[in-house]
Amino acid sequence: MSENPAHITWGKCLQIIRENTSEQSYKTWFEPIKPFKLDGAKLTIQVPSQFFYEWLEENYVQLLRKSLDFAIGRNGLLEYSIIVDSGNRTQNKPPIAVNMTNTKTSSKLPPAPDPQERTVRSPFDLRSLQNNLESYLNPNYTFDNYIEGDCNRLARAASFAVAQKPSVTSFNPLMIYGGVGLGKTHVVQAIGNYIKNRMSDKFVLYVSSEKFTNQFINAIRENNLQDFMSFYMQVDILIMDDVQFLSGKQKTQETFFHIFNHLYQSGKQIVMTSDRPPRELDGMEDRLLSRFKWGLTADLQTPDYETRIAIIQKKLQNEGIHIEYEVIEYLAHSIDSNIRELEGVIISLIAQASLTRKDIDLNLAKSTLKHTISEADREVTIDTIIDAIAETYDVRIPDLKGKSRLRSIVLPRQVAMYLAKNLTNLSLKSIGYHFGGRDHSTVIHAIHTINDLMDTDRDLKDKVTRLMKRFTK
Ligand code: ADP
Ligand code: MG
Repeated sequence: MSENPAHITWGKCLQIIRENTSEQSYKTWFEPIKPFKLDGAKLTIQVPSQFFYEWLEENYVQLLRKSLDFAIGRNGLLEYSIIVDSGNRTQNKPPIAVNMTNTKTSSKLPPAPDPQERTVRSPFDLRSLQNNLESYLNPNYTFDNYIEGDCNRLARAASFAVAQKPSVTSFNPLMIYGGVGLGKTHVVQAIGNYIKNRMSDKFVLYVSSEKFTNQFINAIRENNLQDFMSFYMQVDILIMDDVQFLSGKQKTQETFFHIFNHLYQSGKQIVMTSDRPPRELDGMEDRLLSRFKWGLTADLQTPDYETRIAIIQKKLQNEGIHIEYEVIEYLAHSIDSNIRELEGVIISLIAQASLTRKDIDLNLAKSTLKHTISEADREVTIDTIIDAIAETYDVRIPDLKGKSRLRSIVLPRQVAMYLAKNLTNLSLKSIGYHFGGRDHSTVIHAIHTINDLMDTDRDLKDKVTRLMKRFTK
């Protein structure tokens, strides 16, 4: 391969280019180029798209000239061969001859679209037949409504910085990742809303990767890939939700890659979310993954107890509902998985209360929780564990939660704590809360005791194993 004269000549060109351009530009605009053939003093290079060719011509023509001078000499000519990127097949267009001696120094591509142009519709989406370019943002997702906690501090701060100064910070692209229901969509839409409300000249676009994929497929089917591309290329702030959805979709990724590069090079902001860290995005092309590293990656964790309390209070306040603190505390100690679930319980609690005309009290909270969590998602809750222990050991629930030091109560209580630790995500503090407000050291002690006892006590071991099985089947 490297014996090929075109490769050797292009290799020489790249030496000059590499010395005279940034690492990022080099990777974006020169690495994808393939030397095609050398015919006398004429070098033909293959570029991935028409857009690519135009971009090189507009921005790097001097540099290319310089590199040709070095590699071939003053008489060197450059010819482009464009791989047509519409449709699934790639085919070579007849080469476009470019007279490199006539080094035009035109302004940068793309021209800033003027206001009229901004109302260009995307032809593949009927909903955009409105006066303004639709951003697809939910106005309720704002920073004001987004509770800050240890679990989201960096992600929120970075998002806010981007919202205030899109494409000026080094957080470009900004990548937010985290599990389901932890607030990814909310925080990235907050960026969009913030910008949209303050910088009306910016075209913000929120799109899920799934929708992007469908639009792309339709564009190919209906033969308007060009429109699709030019629509995305006029975006100022592109918010792409759930990029993990692009995994394994090679063509869609490639297209996203081009849009990404174009926007990035034109100083536009890109924000993305993913349900896992970039390095774990299987089926994602390396060149796309490496782009994600240019900016900042911030994760969202499951919210801690204090943040859960604050979120519940905020939701209730938004609904104009007041409930006793003990109920809020109970909810925060009982739902540990994600914020969407927390919201779900609050919503059904409010619905229950208004249907039955009852106040929202601890009992209503308990029964609502039982129905929304344990049955819908078949999750193990602390109450189902306590019920099972009471039944197995034939003890009363108030005793399990009470102060009794009788061995016949203490052992079942410790087993219950042990199961709670192993079967739920609850913190030691929250487990202690459910057993009459015991502190976390008591819970640790219980877990150690059961662990030790199971080494020697066969009966206990069998019992605990059976209980565990009952919950994990
Ligand atoms: P994801 O996109 O990560 O699955 P969402 O952004 O859809 O999660 O969040 C799920 C729900 O939880 C949304 O209704 C959102 O408003 C709410 N939520 C998430 N994080 C917070 C937060 N920090 N403060 C307030 N509400 C939040
Ligand atoms: Mg989401």
